[in-house]
Amino acid sequence: MELFETQNNTGVFENLNQQTYDSLNVLKHFGIIDKDIKNFPKIKQILLNTDECFKKRISIMFDYLKDFIYKFLDLLCNFTEDAIYDFILDCIELGFTLEEESENIFDFYRAQNILSSYTIDAIRKYKEEHQDESIDIFGLTASFVKFSHFVSEIVSLSYYEKLLTDKLYEVYEKSTKDQLSNLYNRAKFNDIKNYEFVRSRRYKIPLSLCMFDIDDFKKINDTFGHLVGDKVIKELGKVVLDNVRKSDIPFRLGGEEFLILFTHTHLKEAKLACEKLLNRIRNIEIKEGDNIVKFTVSMGLTELKEEDDSIEKAIDRADKALYMAKKNGKNRIEILI
Ligand code: GH3
Ligand code: MG
Ligand code: MG
Repeated sequence: MELFETQNNTGVFENLNQQTYDSLNVLKHFGIIDKDIKNFPKIKQILLNTDECFKKRISIMFDYLKDFIYKFLDLLCNFTEDAIYDFILDCIELGFTLEEESENIFDFYRAQNILSSYTIDAIRKYKEEHQDESIDIFGLTASFVKFSHFVSEIVSLSYYEKLLTDKLYEVYEKSTKDQLSNLYNRAKFNDIKNYEFVRSRRYKIPLSLCMFDIDDFKKINDTFGHLVGDKVIKELGKVVLDNVRKSDIPFRLGGEEFLILFTHTHLKEAKLACEKLLNRIRNIEIKEGDNIVKFTVSMGLTELKEEDDSIEKAIDRADKALYMAKKNGKNRIEILI
């Protein structure tokens, strides 16, 4: 509280804007008060007056930490509203750039420890050497430790937040992928189908859908066994991924049923893509002992229409088209518009 009550007297924190008010609030949570801020320039002066050993210890640190420590020291002397805010951003950025696999975060803690222990020592020595009674060892030390703690907390928080976000993303990616085909699963399709529908509507982007199903898959399983059936799905997933554009999103909806969302694609182009894919699939060969297993798929293709009030309408049409393809002899594409 003192920070705010005395700000007008010191003049340091005049014309606070919201941004610095927030930065100051952060400091307040670490117990950093006006008295500490007044102590900071003295601490820096003491550090600069001590022997070369200090600079040597900093010089053995990694460059990115060295730069950071110098910014940290600069702030001790230049504790202005903008400087605090910029420094907090530097702390956050440092946390974000520290990598998980390396020892980065421990290097940072080590550097912080070196700085703290050295500073505390320097304050004591300075008082002894200069016989300066005005130096309050405990006051200066406490101010420095509080500030150092504040910096560590922000760097670690942003570091762990990034780790957590990365992990969450990894878990999400895993939970939306089908292990066998390496394609997205139905959960992912349910997650994004409405988004793609709205996007297509709002920006008038064409959207085509192809549903496909392996022909006589039961026979493959019955003849060669389930493991071969699994190999078929695995190979199929690979061929699909290799033969569609980055903007096309293929899914394994379940069993031996698949769907491709052709975003930014009119029916005519989607038809070409499906024909190409159908051919590639016909050419897949799975070796099983002396046998070569081949298979085909049937496809149902459609495009989202003006009058479709939900993506389900288009999914239904693709499903009906697939049914037609099966009825008309399999190993083919049928289109419903
Ligand atoms: P159609 O040409 O009409 O699609 O005939 P089909 O035999 O492919 O269709 P049906 O629905 O009769 O059989 C599908 C089979 O797919 C039955 C099921 O055991 C098998 N299947 C579904 N998922 C998997 C899987 O992950 N691995 C294996 N090996 N088989 C699967
Ligand atoms: Mg089926
Ligand atoms: Mg089938």
